[in-house]
Amino acid sequence: MPNLPLEKLGYWFDTTNHSGYLEQDRIKVTDWFRIIPFILMHVMCLGILWVGWSWELVTVAFLLYALRMFAITGFYHRYFSHRSFKTSRLVQFLFAVLGASSVQRGPLWWAAHHRKHHRHSDTDKDVHSPHHHGFWWAHIGWITSPSNFPTDYSQVSDFTKYPELRFIDRFDTIIPFLLGLILFSIGGFPYLIWGFFVSSVVLFHITCSINSFSHLWGTQRYSTSDQSRNNLFLALLTFGEGWHNNHHKYPGASRQGFFWWEIDLTYYVLKLLSFLGIIRDLRPVPQRVLEDC
Ligand SMILES: [Zn+2]
Ligand SMILES: [Zn+2]
Repeated sequence: MPNLPLEKLGYWFDTTNHSGYLEQDRIKVTDWFRIIPFILMHVMCLGILWVGWSWELVTVAFLLYALRMFAITGFYHRYFSHRSFKTSRLVQFLFAVLGASSVQRGPLWWAAHHRKHHRHSDTDKDVHSPHHHGFWWAHIGWITSPSNFPTDYSQVSDFTKYPELRFIDRFDTIIPFLLGLILFSIGGFPYLIWGFFVSSVVLFHITCSINSFSHLWGTQRYSTSDQSRNNLFLALLTFGEGWHNNHHKYPGASRQGFFWWEIDLTYYVLKLLSFLGIIRDLRPVPQRVLEDC
């Protein structure tokens, strides 16, 4: 780990593989300096005490939540992590930008960690297993650890050939910053606080709940080798990702609600996008998997 604060300051803006972090620092610790921006993002939510609230502001926050939740579930997860459908380079880029505006770092970082999660689910190599590392570490702690800051490009070699994706991943604060700037120029501090900070923090914790709660609470239709669960409440909040036991059973499918009664908003939007010709080749759940309950 670099000793100079100035050098570490650079990591806030340029994440070039966090090369200053040395192997001996790759342990279960929190780098408080590195996560100051992340902490400030939470503190800024208190701005609602100052700017107040209105239905308009709540609507702005909700719309940005919905749009970006879809970018995370539909693209960061089902496309970049699992390649469960195909699309053009332009659409891939546009949704990478939208996903990056969620302040959950770049698509390559996100997908690389998630692919490892599926490979090592609920073993000691799963960096966010609540069964091995406790609830809080699984929910949020793992993100604060130097060992998890770098992007392991070997996990996402199918996407590293796109320089535009590597750029978003390297300078992962640019797009969130631009979103904040746009909101501020439209509606001043009230839009910035509600549309950016509140919306992003809520979106962040609900996304993380799939790592924490979805491996703890709910039912298991399939006996997978992990503790993944199906949970209707989380599926509604996360636009379909709460059908997590289904997902661990067959991660390659574009749908996670395997049956018509399992509400999966992300899948409905993906179907619409495929109907419009924007994406294609949505991978289905094989019949043998559906019958394997
Ligand atoms: Zn999982
Ligand atoms: Zn997954």
